[in-house]
Order: sequence, then C-alpha cells, then structure tokens
Amino acid sequence: MSDPLKIPFFNSKSYAVSRSFDLNDPVERKLYFKEKLGDKIEQIKEFLDSRTFVGYLMAKKQAGKGTYAKMFEEIVGSDRFQHVSIGDLVRKAGEDIGYPDKKREIENYLENNYRGFLSVTAALTSLQNREQGALLPTDLILALVKMEIDRIGNKALFIDGLPRNLDQISYSLYFRDLINHREDPDFFVLIDVPESLIDLRMTGRKVCPLCKTSKNLTLNPSKFVVPDDSGNGYSLLCDNERCVGYGKEKLVSKEGDSEGKESIRERLDTEGELMSTANSLQGIPKVLIRNTIPVTQSSVYVENFEISPSFSYTNVRGEIEIARKPLVLIDDDGIESYSLSGACVVVSMVDQIYKILIG
Ligand SMILES: [Zn+2]
Repeated sequence: MSDPLKIPFFNSKSYAVSRSFDLNDPVERKLYFKEKLGDKIEQIKEFLDSRTFVGYLMAKKQAGKGTYAKMFEEIVGSDRFQHVSIGDLVRKAGEDIGYPDKKREIENYLENNYRGFLSVTAALTSLQNREQGALLPTDLILALVKMEIDRIGNKALFIDGLPRNLDQISYSLYFRDLINHREDPDFFVLIDVPESLIDLRMTGRKVCPLCKTSKNLTLNPSKFVVPDDSGNGYSLLCDNERCVGYGKEKLVSKEGDSEGKESIRERLDTEGELMSTANSLQGIPKVLIRNTIPVTQSSVYVENFEISPSFSYTNVRGEIEIARKPLVLIDDDGIESYSLSGACVVVSMVDQIYKILIG
C-alpha cells in the first residue's frame, strides 16, 4: 500500500525545548506544550473566546483520533472545544429512543429539523435497527449532529466520522453553513498513521473484562506484567485503581483483534481513499499530520523523548524485566520509521491550526 497523502515531516526541533519530558504524564505534557507552542496557545484561546471553527478529523480506524482530540482539548480547554464522534452520537441516540421521554425529545427535534426522504417514524425505526448492519441515511446523521451541536452551544468542533464515504464529502464542504458557523474557519485534519501501527494496536490490545481498560503488551503495558499460563508469553493485569480487579484481573484480547488489520481491510481502503480525495479538494484548508519519521532522519526532526516506545519482557527466575526501546515500524511506503508520541503529533496539529485561525 503506498501512501497517497505524502505528508511532509514536521520539524519539531525548530521549536527548541529546555529539557526532555515524560509525554505520558498529563502535567509534564502541559509543560511540554507550553514550551513548544508558547504564545500560540494563548492566541488560539483568545480567538476561541469569541469565535469557533469546524475541523473534520479524518484518519484510518485505530489511528488514535480520540487521543489527539483529547490532547487538543487539554490545550484549549473543554469550555472552548468539543470532539463530536458521529459513531458515539448514533449509538447514544439509538439507546436513548429506548426511553420514552428521550425518544419524544428526539422525535420533536426531527419534526422541526429533519429534511430528507424518511418520515420521522421511519427515521426513528432506522435508528432502532442500526445494529443490523444498515447504514443510516446521511440526512438523518446530519440532523443528529445538528441536534448535538445545538446542545453543546458555541464551541470549536472536531467532527469525527463525517465524511464517512465519498458521497458525504460534499456535505462536509457546506456543513458549517448548516450549523450556522458560516463566518468561522473550517478545515480537514488528515492524520496519516501506517497500517503496521494499526496492526500492532489491534493484535497487542488487551482489555479488562471488568472495567474495559485497554492496554497493549507491546505499546502500552499496564503496571502489572506476569508470565502467562502457557509459560512462554506474558499477560497484563488490570492497573485501574478504581477497578475491583486491580492487580489481579487478567486483561484479554477482544474478539477479532488477533486477526489484525486484514480483518478491517475494506474499511482501511475506504478511509485511505477518502483522505486522499479530501486532500485534493480546493478552497478548504487542510491540516496534514503524520505519525512517523524515517529512522535515518529522526535526529534532524525530533527529540528522542518524542519517539514512541515499545516494550519487551524477559523472565529472569520469576522476576519480569521490562526493556523499553524506540518503536521501529515499516511505514506504508516501506521505509523503516519511528512512530511519534501523540503529544508531538498534536504540536504539529496545533501549529497548523494556528496558521489557519490567526495567520
Ligand atoms: Zn479493570
């Protein structure tokens, strides 16, 4: 698979920092963002005190969109910004219509705001039956998003999950008019993550059966690593302090994950095509970010602490030793690359959003 986006490398080293930071620690991360982005953070916040934006977040499944959105929220504050996931929204609406009062609320909203081919009754039925593999009509999804945005109020938005197919791309071009954000900037955020990383995220993922905390044996282990029952591998135990399984519940693979990226091949291909189409559109700005840097060029562009780690284990007479080294991947162009930490990717994102909003 070749990378049709050809996203340039971000030169993180052009923003010098005074020391290294532990980017997994929220407090350290805040200091890191402050040193890297300086005055830009305050200027973006000031902009968002009186105006908004709409960013269409596009990436392949498992690319970490939620993580990047969360970090952007850490930077500008939840009172100025909201991440709207269409998938979550549709799921919630489907659950809500199981409750008479909430169903009535959705029904009222659709009666006043929905425009399309379905009757309101048929629209509610298709929400109820959404599990059965049928895709919801775009006009219904737009009405649900508009309902959510009316609820959120005047905030900058990342819309995640629209456009979901090629037909929906043109909707995204006029979406800000639909939600009355028409004087405010809009842009696509295209995030390029290699499929080899998507594969590692899926095949190494382990989830607590009790609290659903998700970890990864290779990329993000829990505090507790133990030899597994077979004796030739390792297992993780839950380290969520609020979970009754803390320190004892074994994390397990999710069904389908062990097959890795090929189990979602069709979706990955559609999303790849969607991103290159969005990238070719004229008249709307794009924020282009990439998760990797070629190993041979990394020292020019990034600091060592900005490279994602990978973890491996050795059992030394019952004691598990954990080795941490930079994660090396083959990217979609076949180039040996490092994966960058989410925080470093977000610096590149904020830097480009700053240019769109402020100049
Ligand atoms: Zn747990």
